[in-house]
Formats: sequence, structure tokens, C-alpha cells
Amino acid sequence: MFLESKSENQQIFLPELEGKNIQLFIKREDKIHPDVSGNKFRKLKYNLVKAIQQKKQMVLTFGGAYSNHILATAAAGNINNLKTVGIIRGDELGNDLESTLTSNPTLQKSADYGMQFEFISRERYREKYDPTFLKSLEEKFGDFHLIPEGGTNELAVQGCEEILTNDDEQFDYICCCVGTGGTLSGLICSSKHYQKIIGFPALKGNFLKEEVAKRVHRRENWKLMNEYHFGGYAKFSDGLIHFINRFKAQTDIPLDPIYTGKMMFGILDMIEKDQFSKNAKILVIHTGGLQGIEGFNKMLEKKKRELKLDA
Ligand SMILES: *Cc1c(COP(=O)(O)O)cnc(C)c1O
Repeated sequence: MFLESKSENQQIFLPELEGKNIQLFIKREDKIHPDVSGNKFRKLKYNLVKAIQQKKQMVLTFGGAYSNHILATAAAGNINNLKTVGIIRGDELGNDLESTLTSNPTLQKSADYGMQFEFISRERYREKYDPTFLKSLEEKFGDFHLIPEGGTNELAVQGCEEILTNDDEQFDYICCCVGTGGTLSGLICSSKHYQKIIGFPALKGNFLKEEVAKRVHRRENWKLMNEYHFGGYAKFSDGLIHFINRFKAQTDIPLDPIYTGKMMFGILDMIEKDQFSKNAKILVIHTGGLQGIEGFNKMLEKKKRELKLDA
């Protein structure tokens, strides 16, 4: 593969931590690679190893137009000499590819890494694992290794088990954002029994608890905090943007608006409400996603909002 990776833990100092007897650290997985950042690197690793072992020339995956997973797959494929195909939700995006790429830095960068796109309707997207459809993709693009939307499968969970190292056994709590729950599952599997793993879903819905439970071999030292999704996936408030900008100014650590920003807001809210035990040592996983900031700002600009995430 590429880039064996171990990322540093950085302590966070903030006014709201003073007098709280809490030590807060963040694992900078966002620094692994600008475009294969954080958990997407972990999730792709053993998938690409398998594709290469099986002598596949190509990987194919699915995602939305701003997906961190799409860009990570394009970049990691490029580094490993694998062709990549991205099946993207939204057939209208394919009508004028040039204008789509100009307004969407995620897809533009993915195209620069050599990814081929297939834009499909939302209805088709819902049925994306239908065997007849997959067969038609194979006829069109050739033989491929399939990686599911968001990149979560057993190989992805295996990769995410490598996020925690022996040094991290000192922490009482591990906090992580949740999309499909693959990353959280890997953390739970590699945690110590005395550690508590807390997931912060970036979307609404009750299906996650069951999804994670299935993957973690009856371990129970974890829970989900469902009150910090800000209305659902990719929804946000002005307050969230201001929070992310302030956090960046105070710590020099950038957060993304879809996942890590919401989680950090939640963690500081829980600290304020004394929901962690006294003298707790907390490790927050920075899962990356920073590539999305540029596209997010373009979207705000298009909506003629004064608001903007500081780069
Ligand atoms: C994809 C992503 C997640 C969600 O990971 P899951 O394994 O799907 O739960 C969290 N944070 C960032 C920055 C991501 O890009």
C-alpha cells in the first residue's frame, strides 16, 4: 500500500476547560494526507490491498458529489496505480461536466487524479447494489473491486482498528464522529475494556446503533450521542460555523462542517454539563474531511451568505 501511518496526539487548551479537571487531546488523523485524510485512509487500506492481491486493475465506489470518500478513493487509487470509477448521486451533474467540475472542487480534484464518473439519478442510486446494475457497470468499465458507499465493510473496520496505538491506553474516553459507523466499530474493537467509546452521529436516524452492534462482537463499552447532528446530514446553523471558526482561531486546528465540527461542539457541550467523569482524559479522533471546506464555502457563496469557514 502507501503511507504506513501513525498520527500524533495534540493537547487542546481552551478557556472552557479551565477549572474542569479534564484533559483533552486530539489525534490528528487529518494530517495523514491532504486528500486521503483521516479515516478514509484507514478504511481504504485493506480494500486496496485486496484489490491488488486479486490483480484487479480498478476499484469502483459510490458517493455524493462532495464525498470525502470519493476523493480519497480517487487519490489512493492514483497513488497505487489502480483505475478508479466513482458512481455519483445526481444525474443532472453529468449534463454539463465542465460546469459541474468548476463549481465542485471535490469532483475536480477526483477527476485530476484520473477518476472516471458515472452520474446516476437518485432513484437509481437507491438501488445501486442491484446485481443487474452492477453487471451493466462491469460491461461498461471492466472488472473491478467494489467498495461500498462511505467505504464501510469488514476490511474498513479492520483498517480502523489501527487508529488506536499502545500509547492511547491511557485515555478514559475515545470520541469519534459517525457516518456509517465503520470507524467507530474499528475503535470499539481495538479499545481496552475500561475505555468508553463515544460516537457522534452526523445524521439523524436510529439504524446506526444496530449497524455498529453487529460489527463489534458483543462489546458494550460504547454509546452514541444523538443530539449533535444539527438537523441532519450536511445541515448546519450559523452558530456551528462561528464555533468552527472560533475553535480554529483558539487552537489552530481546522474542523470540517459535516463531521468533526459537530462532534467537537458536542464534546465541549458535554464537558460544560459535566457529563464526563472527574479527571477524565479524553482522546478525540480527528477523522479529517477538510477537503470539503472549499466546496462548502462555494455553496455558501452561491446562496449569497456572508458566512464563511476560515481556511
Ligand atoms: C466519512 C467520514 C466520517 C464517517 O465515518 P464512518 O466510518 O462512515 O462512520 C467521519 N468523519 C469524516 C471527516 C469523514 O470523512
